[in-house]
Amino acid sequence: RAARERAAAHEPAVTRDGREIEVGANIGSADEARLAAEAGADGIGLMRSEFLFLERSAAPSEADQRGEYQAAVDALGGKPVIIRTLDIGADKQLPYLRLPQAPNPALGLRGSRLWESHPELLDAQLRALLGVTAPERLRIMVPMIGDAGELARVRERLERLAEGLGLTRLPALGAMIEVPSAALCARRLAAEADFLSIGTNDLTQYTLAMDREDPGLAARADVLHPAVLTLIHTTVEGAAGRCPVGVCGAAAGDDLAAPLLAALGVDELSVEPARVPAIKAALRRLDVAALAGTIPELLVLDDAAAVRERLAGWFAAQS
Ligand code: PEP
Ligand code: MG
Repeated sequence: RAARERAAAHEPAVTRDGREIEVGANIGSADEARLAAEAGADGIGLMRSEFLFLERSAAPSEADQRGEYQAAVDALGGKPVIIRTLDIGADKQLPYLRLPQAPNPALGLRGSRLWESHPELLDAQLRALLGVTAPERLRIMVPMIGDAGELARVRERLERLAEGLGLTRLPALGAMIEVPSAALCARRLAAEADFLSIGTNDLTQYTLAMDREDPGLAARADVLHPAVLTLIHTTVEGAAGRCPVGVCGAAAGDDLAAPLLAALGVDELSVEPARVPAIKAALRRLDVAALAGTIPELLVLDDAAAVRERLAGWFAAQS
């Protein structure tokens, strides 16, 4: 079965009832982009650019960054590549930034909030991204966005930098939904963004107020909690007809969560390259409309354990 799945991985994933869902890959470097292409990914749903900035004594030059981004785009041979701007702070630190000690780093200056304290760092990254040839295949994604105003300010910067470089064709600009405020404001955010991508790792952490790094909470920090599912539902409903929605958190590659995310109406799942064949195969076995019929009941269950049990029961009844 694994060999058959690998061969079929280069074909689009269409559910039993005819809905096509893109399955992209999460990567941390251009080398991994090549792995993703070999695995059959329909694109890159998340390139975590911060890996370029880690384990060095200073930020990479604009030219070095541009080379890495270009190589990732080239490796996908025409398929779309979403590159996320620097997501530093909390669990990911850069000693050379000398950020002030935050009382609670997860709730501090991190992700897109760094534009306030380090505008030159993020502007340099945007210029490097604008230097990629084939802007129609590149999508720029901003982490830790809290509302439409924050994304609008990033778009202004992007347009101003593009003007300075004499560019007229800009890559698409999207926001991660990983803070409850962003999910609750999804309708407005979707009007401002070219696409949205739900980061379920942080969305779970911030919705449940459970540190994603705390091993004592790992079993309870569950994306299948009805509150997290409700925010995903709110995001998809808010974006409907305005812009596409993907998921790039670990839930996208999870056997139980991935079909449910498809049923909640997301257009794209982005997973570890090695998971692409299995997730495409799982989507092909799924009657997405039938599973969608259970969502109203799932959203009003008591807790994540109850959702897991109900979902497992649904799948058992299907086979
Ligand atoms: C997420 O939060 O779900 C996500 C994809 O981003 P990261 O895991 O890099 O924080
Ligand atoms: Mg995140």
